Amino acid sequence: MRILVTGGAGFLGSHLCERLLEDGHDVLCLDNLFTGFKENIRHLSERPQFEFMRHDVVDPFKVEVDRIFNLACPASPIHYQYNPIKTVKTSVMGAINVLGLARRLKCRVLQASTSEVYGDPSVHPQPETYWGSVNPIGIRSCYDEGKRCAETLFFDYHRQNRVDIRVARIFNTYGPRMHPFDGRVVSNFIVQALRNEPITLYGDGSQTRSFCYVDDLVDGFVRLMNQTDTVGPINLGNPREFTIRELAERVISMTGSASEIHFQPLPQDDPLQRRPDISLAREYLSWEPKIQLEDGLKRTIRYFSEHADLSKGTAESSV
Ligand code: NAD
Ligand code: UDP
Repeated sequence: MRILVTGGAGFLGSHLCERLLEDGHDVLCLDNLFTGFKENIRHLSERPQFEFMRHDVVDPFKVEVDRIFNLACPASPIHYQYNPIKTVKTSVMGAINVLGLARRLKCRVLQASTSEVYGDPSVHPQPETYWGSVNPIGIRSCYDEGKRCAETLFFDYHRQNRVDIRVARIFNTYGPRMHPFDGRVVSNFIVQALRNEPITLYGDGSQTRSFCYVDDLVDGFVRLMNQTDTVGPINLGNPREFTIRELAERVISMTGSASEIHFQPLPQDDPLQRRPDISLAREYLSWEPKIQLEDGLKRTIRYFSEHADLSKGTAESSV
């Protein structure tokens, strides 16, 4: 098949392009390179089955493909808050554009949604039936509500125009090719630890997240796309939950770093807890994560120490 991956030069997108090529498909990677890099896909660009198109999903486009994975959207808080209006446009107009394309081509389209649709959840762990607790006017809303509206559009195109959709709700995912200065917790802690700088722990570190390694997530994407029993939404994430303080301590010990923990204020609307209920993914996709945090962190630390240029750059300079 010929498959379009929007946001294909980003962290998850580049791994997905790689996997689809391995599976024997032709891949068209569309990206405006806001938070993605050509470097992430340089190793793929030699292959005749791979094509890169620099384009913004907010602007309509026409291509001929058999399937679409829609990943285009900045994903880290500092990146999606840099230009919040553009973030909403990317989610909403991007969804309208890929859905219009899927309707015309009669092709299946998968949306990379997020656990952020659950907001700061009062139901724990979060099943897909939970409608969420989202602040519609806060600093995270451009991302959370943009993604919620994109889900609405996916289901309305499905009901109204019979577009063949799939919706994945992704929980925190990490691994090689994360942007080293995107401010997300795993990349931040590893970079800080490798530079022996203070580890910035927001709040008292008792808030929780559940971290999924990128290879597991990509496998979930492909399984969701390839089956016909459910359109979703379906949670994809690792159900092992950690406090952010535990993560900080683990990173310090695994890197042998001299870094100390520095407590900083908790950002506005920062969810206190997050863990996916993955019963549906187990049932419909026979999927569950295989790579546990220790192993995934080891691979990610190796990537940052060997590949990423950590000599310059800060979270502030990355936007
Ligand atoms: P990322 O920032 O590395 O990748 C996003 C990609 O989209 C980048 O290459 C960026 O340049 C591109 N992009 C942004 N706006 C665009 C636009 N208007 N037009 C075209 N391209 C655009 O982030 P990621 O972690 O790889 O996230 C990929 C997708 O998965 C996003 O939609 C994100 O919301 C979703 N997601 C990720 C996580 C996670 O933990 N990584 C969790 C939940 C959801
Ligand atoms: N966090 C932190 N220090 C950092 C970056 C993040 O303590 O340097 C915390 C953040 O407040 C949140 C958690 O780690 O509670 C996960 O943050 P991230 O931005 O990675 O993802 P999200 O909040 O979107 O799940």
